[in-house]
Amino acid sequence: MKQEFYKYQAQTTQFASGFEVERAEGNYIYGKDGKAYLDFVAGVSANTLGHSHPKIVQAIKEQTDKYLHVMVYGEYAQEKPVALCQLLADATPAPLEVTYLVNSGAEAIDGALKLAKRYTGREEIISFKDSYHGNTHGALSVSGNETHKREYRPLLPMINFIGFNEEKDLEQITEKTAGVIVETIQGAAGFIMPENDFFIKLKRRCEDVGALLILDEIQPGFGRTGKLFAFEHFGIVPDILVMGKGMGGGVPVGAFMASAEIMQTLSHSPKLGHITTFGGNPLIAAASHATLSEVLESGVMDEMYRKEQLFRELLVHPKIKKINGMGLMLAVDLGTPEYCLDVAKRCMENGLIVFWQLYKNNYMRITPPLIITDEEIKKGCKIIIDALNEN
Ligand code: PLP
Repeated sequence: MKQEFYKYQAQTTQFASGFEVERAEGNYIYGKDGKAYLDFVAGVSANTLGHSHPKIVQAIKEQTDKYLHVMVYGEYAQEKPVALCQLLADATPAPLEVTYLVNSGAEAIDGALKLAKRYTGREEIISFKDSYHGNTHGALSVSGNETHKREYRPLLPMINFIGFNEEKDLEQITEKTAGVIVETIQGAAGFIMPENDFFIKLKRRCEDVGALLILDEIQPGFGRTGKLFAFEHFGIVPDILVMGKGMGGGVPVGAFMASAEIMQTLSHSPKLGHITTFGGNPLIAAASHATLSEVLESGVMDEMYRKEQLFRELLVHPKIKKINGMGLMLAVDLGTPEYCLDVAKRCMENGLIVFWQLYKNNYMRITPPLIITDEEIKKGCKIIIDALNEN
């Protein structure tokens, strides 16, 4: 299958591992080589509750027995998408109330950017250096890494970039700004945390000039930091909340949320401010609703801080420079990209899946399913430490 994969499936790099997958369950992926691989990556934060969680699979099966797709987004009232949106409204603070369901994180970012422009009637978007928001033209335009953008210009105009945690840069947010888009924890850059009440100052500045604050929670959302959304740690509520990845528990999904007042602007003058065929698809909504219910009811979020501490206790080694992040989104600094990639390769040979951060390849990504057990954390960390000792 590997040769066919390289030949017929479009490649994103020239060095994909081509790992051949047989099946996946709980915190393990099983290869066609007959080996079990402990998963410290969770589909890059998508498999919130591990692989093939029985409640998610059951919800999908029940929906499959009723119907698959019946209409484009927004026209018919369907049980699962409505239940998902209602549960999201219950689980988030006011004024967040209304959810627009889409197909991916990047589409949700595009929708959020359009919504900010439409609501404010302004044109400028402010984003952050080193940010990552996805790969559609819109999402790429607000991502702050020139290497990934260079060959795809022209991108969206009127996008300006400021420094994350740079208080003095907040002055660049003005009455011309429609929205400020920011990751609550900067992912591709190595899980960089907001510092010194940065978000409180950012939110205040947005309010002062009438710009909307758009928070990209596509990585930390759905419990990864110990709260349903990471912004709950930082004393603010965004005007527009963007989610994706982990909200599906393993199926493709994205969404953006806002107050009813803001969101209703997409429905008139002109109508159809955002159109999507499969957004709110009932199969996907069933999986996402099951994921959200389980995250909220199981108590899994209460374990995030303790599990983070266990990782931090076990991952102590002279070759580890520091560990960024929070909860089960940790970036382990191994000094150089070459060494990090080499350690990741050797971990894989020894039955542990780890990855690296998109822009800063010196950081090893540790984002296991939230249901990872203490025993599995110990087992995986031993494989990492053994690899560091080896070479
Ligand atoms: N925003 C952030 C912070 C992400 O990490 C990602 C994906 O990695 C996206 C947006 C884009 O999501 P998707 O790949 O589902 O389009």
